Amino acid sequence: MDDPIHVIDPEGDAIICLRRPSRPFAPWDYNGDRGAGSSTEAVRSGGSNTGESAGGGNLSGSRPRKKIKKENPESENLVDEVHPVGSSHGQSGRDPGPQTSRDAERVEENCHRFQVSAKQLKVLSPVFKEALSGVRRLPSSGVGVEITTGPFYLESFSLLMTIFHCQPQNFPQRVSLEVLAQLAVMADHYRCEAWIQFFADRWIRHMEPGFPTTYCRDAMLWVWVSGFFKLPAEFEKSTALVVDESDRLVTNLGLPIPAAVIDQINRTRSESISGMIREMNSRRDYFLTGARGCCFECSSIMFGALTKNMHAIKLYPTQPGYPYTGMSRNELTRKVRSFAVPLCLFKSRSSRVCDMKPFPKIIEKAGIVKEIHLDIWER
Ligand SMILES: [Zn+2]
Repeated sequence: MDDPIHVIDPEGDAIICLRRPSRPFAPWDYNGDRGAGSSTEAVRSGGSNTGESAGGGNLSGSRPRKKIKKENPESENLVDEVHPVGSSHGQSGRDPGPQTSRDAERVEENCHRFQVSAKQLKVLSPVFKEALSGVRRLPSSGVGVEITTGPFYLESFSLLMTIFHCQPQNFPQRVSLEVLAQLAVMADHYRCEAWIQFFADRWIRHMEPGFPTTYCRDAMLWVWVSGFFKLPAEFEKSTALVVDESDRLVTNLGLPIPAAVIDQINRTRSESISGMIREMNSRRDYFLTGARGCCFECSSIMFGALTKNMHAIKLYPTQPGYPYTGMSRNELTRKVRSFAVPLCLFKSRSSRVCDMKPFPKIIEKAGIVKEIHLDIWER
C-alpha cells in the first residue's frame, strides 16, 4: 500500500517508521495473550554526514543501533530489520537506496512514515533519547536517522507527533475516548506522561458526555484513561461501574492497567456476590433452626419464603461458585430487593409484636462494597 510520508517537520532530520497494528486496539474479546513487547530502535542513515567512525562509508555491517524494550501488553513482537535510507540533502528518505532488500520493502509496506525532528523526540521522551543516543551527530540538513517504532495507531500517533513538535494549531478541539486511550498507551510507552497529561486534561474537560452505564469496552477504556491521567472521580466512577455491572472476570483488554487494579475489581465484585449468597444461606439456616423469627409459625413461613425466593433466582438447591460467570452484582441486588416477603401475623410467646427485620435488606447490606480509590494505581 502506498502511504504518503506524514511530514510533521519539513526540515526534520529523522524518519519514523511506525509499524501498523495487526489487530484492533484493546479488543473486547481480549483473551490475555501478551506480545513480547514493542521496541523503538534508531539506525543512523548515510555514513558521510555523521562523523562517526574512521572507515565508515558502508554502515551495513556496523550500524550503531539502540533498542529499548518495554513490556506493553497491547504491542506485538515485531522487531524488523531496518535499512539505512538515502541521506541526500532535502530528501525525505523515501528512496530506500541501493541496499534495498525484500525485507526492507516489507518493513516499509507495514509502516507509516513520518518526517520528524530527532531533537524534539529526544526532548520529550527518554525512550527516544536513549534510542537515539547511539547516533553521535546528525547531518546539518537532510534525513540522518530512521527509527522504527510501534505498532501504534495512525491517528493517535500523528497527534502525539504534533504534541512532540509543539503544533497547537494542529490540535483537535475534541478527541474521542478511543484516541485518548491510545495516547495514554503511547505516553506510557515513551515515558512522556507529563507532556501528554497537560493536553489530555483539556480534552477530557471537553469530552462529550456519555459515560457508559453498562459493563462494556468504553467502561474499561475509562478505567485506563482515568487511572493513567490521574482523575480520581472518573476512576472511582468507572471502577464502581465495572464492579457493579460486570458479569464475569474482568481482563485488562491488553491495556497496561496495573494488575492490582484488575485484581481489586474482580475481588470486590466476587466478594460482594459471595457475601450476599452467604447471607441468604445464613438466614435460611437461622429460620430452619428457629434462631430467627418470633415463633415456630413465623420462622417456618420465613424459611419457606426465603427458600422459594432463592429457588426463583436459581440459588437453590444448587448455587454457582467463583467467579460467578453470568451474574452481576447489580443484577443480584435488584433480584434480592424484589424478594417477596410475607408479613408476620403472629405474636411471640411473650406477646410482643414480631420485630424481625426484613431479610432482603440484610442480604443487600452484606453485598455493599467500598469504592476503589486511585491510590491503588501506584501500588
Ligand atoms: Zn414473627
